Amino acid sequence: MTTRTSTILTHTVCPRCREDKPLTEFSTNPSKKNGHASYCRPCARERLREYRATDIGKLANRVASREYAARNRARNLALREASTTTP
Ligand SMILES: [Zn+2]
Repeated sequence: MTTRTSTILTHTVCPRCREDKPLTEFSTNPSKKNGHASYCRPCARERLREYRATDIGKLANRVASREYAARNRARNLALREASTTTP
C-alpha cells in the first residue's frame, strides 16, 4: 500500500552525504521550493570550501568580497552622513 502520509517535509536526504537529516540540519534558502538548501550544513560548508579552492571559486570569492566591501563602504558612508545631518 502506498499512501502519502504527510506533505510536510521534516526530513530530507542530503545528496552529498546521502544521510536522511531533519530540515533543521539544512540552512534556509527561500529560492528553493522547500525553503531549504539542497545540502546539509556540514556538506554546504565543505562544498563552499572546495569551491573556494578552485580558480573560479577564488575569483568569485574575490569579486564577492570586493562587492561586500563596496556595499559596506556605501552603507558606512550613509550612516555617517545620517549621524552628522541629524540634529
Ligand atoms: Zn550532507
